[in-house]
Amino acid sequence: MQKNQIVELEITDLSYEAMGVAHYEGMTIFVNNALPGEIVKAKILKVKKRFAFAKIEKIIKESPDRVNVKLNQWVQTGLASLAHIKYDKQLEFKRNQVVNLLHKAGLDEIKVNQTLASPEETGYRNKAQVPVREVKGQLEIGFFRRHSHDLVPLTNFFTTDPEIDRVLAAVRDILRKYKVPAYDELHHKGEVRYLDVRRSKATGEIMVILVCLHQDFPQIMEVAAEISQIKDVTSLILNHNPKKTNVILGKDDYVVFGEDHITDKIGDVKFRISPKSFFQINSLQTPRLYQLAIDKANLKPSDVVIDAYSGIGTIGLSVAKHVKAVRGMETVKDAVKDANANAKLNGIDNAQYVVGKAEEVMPRWANEGLKTDVIFVDPPRKGLTPEFIKAAVATKPKKVVYISCNPATQVRDLQLFMKQGYSFNEVSPVDMFPQTPHVESVAVLTKD
Ligand code: SAH
Repeated sequence: MQKNQIVELEITDLSYEAMGVAHYEGMTIFVNNALPGEIVKAKILKVKKRFAFAKIEKIIKESPDRVNVKLNQWVQTGLASLAHIKYDKQLEFKRNQVVNLLHKAGLDEIKVNQTLASPEETGYRNKAQVPVREVKGQLEIGFFRRHSHDLVPLTNFFTTDPEIDRVLAAVRDILRKYKVPAYDELHHKGEVRYLDVRRSKATGEIMVILVCLHQDFPQIMEVAAEISQIKDVTSLILNHNPKKTNVILGKDDYVVFGEDHITDKIGDVKFRISPKSFFQINSLQTPRLYQLAIDKANLKPSDVVIDAYSGIGTIGLSVAKHVKAVRGMETVKDAVKDANANAKLNGIDNAQYVVGKAEEVMPRWANEGLKTDVIFVDPPRKGLTPEFIKAAVATKPKKVVYISCNPATQVRDLQLFMKQGYSFNEVSPVDMFPQTPHVESVAVLTKD
C-alpha cells in the first residue's frame, strides 16, 4: 500500500475519534468522515506498518445515517467531527464506547444505559475560546485546522450559543476597526491571541475576555468603549498571556469594565464563575447530569459528602442543603475562592472547599481520621490516581459517584475500586457535547 493510492473500501466500524474503519489486504484503514455501512473510494494519505489513514474521494454507497454538514469548516477544524451522523446514532456511538471498554475489561455483565440526549443538539455551549490570527492581511477569528495552527476563518461555531457567536463577530469587527493586530505565533508578536466569551443562560450576562500578548495596548480604551455597547456584554477582562505556549489563558486578569466574574444558575443554586474557573459548558444538560448523579447517590440528612475535583462547587453546593456536611478540593485557586463564595451566596454554611490536588488532600483527610458517606469525583480526562482511590476507600464511603469525561480512565479506576471490595452494576452515558465524539458517563460504586 502506498501514499496517494486509491482504494475501494467497505467501512465496518467507527473508531474512538469517529473515523470510519475498514480492512484491506491485512491493513486497518481509518477513513476520515466515513460511516459504517458505506462503500467509499478513498485516497491513502499516510501508511504505517499495520494501519493507514485515508480520506474519501467519493462515496459509492451512502449510509442512511449520514447528515449533510452545512459548513465544511466544522469538519476541517474538528469542531464538530460527529456532525455528519444523525443525532440518535451519535448517542448510540457514545454508548458503544462504554460497552466496548467494559467488554475489554471483562465486565460484560455491567448494564450500560441509553445515552441521555442533550436538550440542545447545537448551540449548546455557554463558552467559546476562539483563536485570533491574521489571514490574508486581515484579522480573523475562527478555529485551527485539525492537528495544525492554521486558522480557518469562521463566525458560525455551530455548537456555541448563537448569542456568543454574535458577540465574537462584533468584537472581531471592533478589533479590525481600530487596527489592533492579531497575535503572530511564528514571530511571537502582535496582540490579541484569543477571544474567550462566556454567557450565563440564567441571566443573559456575557463576559468578554481578550487574551493578549501585552498587559495593555494603545487602542484599549476605544475598543473597550465599543465592546461595552454590544448588547448584553456586562464585563470585559484583559487576560495577559506573554508566553510562547499553547495554553490559552495567561496568569493575570485585568478587569477593563464590569465585574470579575459572571453569575449563572444550576437548578436553584447560584454560581459566580471567574475567568479561570471550570464550569460545565452545556448549560441545559448540566442539571440533568447532576440530577442523575445525585439521584443515584441516595443522600441522607446525616451524610458527610466529598466533592472532589470540585471546580466552583457545583455538585457539592447542589446537595449541601440535604446533607450534614460537604468538603471539597480543587487545584485552581480562583475556582476554590468561587466555591466558598458560592456557598455564602446561597446561604450554605456546611460546605468548605480547599485548594490542593485531590491525590494529596484526600490522603491527608484520611490520615486525620475523616469518615465519609458519599464521595463524588469528577476528575479531568486522566482520571483518578491509585493514591486518591486508596485514601478515598480509607474514609469508608458507602457510595462513590464517579462522573467522568473519559470512560477509558473511568473503567480503569472502577476496576481499582472493585479490588477494594466496591462494586457497580451500571454505567450511564450522558451527552454533554453533541456533534463531538466526547462521552461523559456516570457510575456508582457501593459497598455494603
Ligand atoms: N465538578 C466540577 C468540575 C469538574 S472539571 C463541575 O462539574 O463543574 C474537573 C476539575 O478538576 C477542574 O476544575 C480542574 O481544575 C480540577 N482538577 C484538575 N486536576 C486536579 C487535581 N489533581 N486535584 C483536584 N482538582 C483537580
